[in-house]
Amino acid sequence: MHGMPAAKEIVEAAQGAAEKEGRTVKSIEVEMGPDAAINSEELELCFDVASQDTALEGTELNITLKPGLVECLDCGKSEEKTRVDHLPSCPACYSTNLKINGVGIVIKDIVFE
Ligand SMILES: [Zn+2]
Repeated sequence: MHGMPAAKEIVEAAQGAAEKEGRTVKSIEVEMGPDAAINSEELELCFDVASQDTALEGTELNITLKPGLVECLDCGKSEEKTRVDHLPSCPACYSTNLKINGVGIVIKDIVFE
């Protein structure tokens, strides 16, 4: 699954923070841009799998979609989007030669119980 490395990173970061603080993680706030290679549903699913049998099992993952600029490198059309398709193409010229700008996947906050 494509989102697994990102989900594992989030689990590891939250586990590290929880150990350092000696507390239980209640929820994790994540920001996601259109340049993340997966969509939020996939990330949630991967997070559920990655956190299984860890102290983070059942922890809430709150994903905020952050818009980013999607630019067509062929016709120059750009559009702000919060998510893109798996095989994004330019709405004007159907080129798939796109540059997708965004925050990727960022952990903004780890909330403890
Ligand atoms: Zn175009």
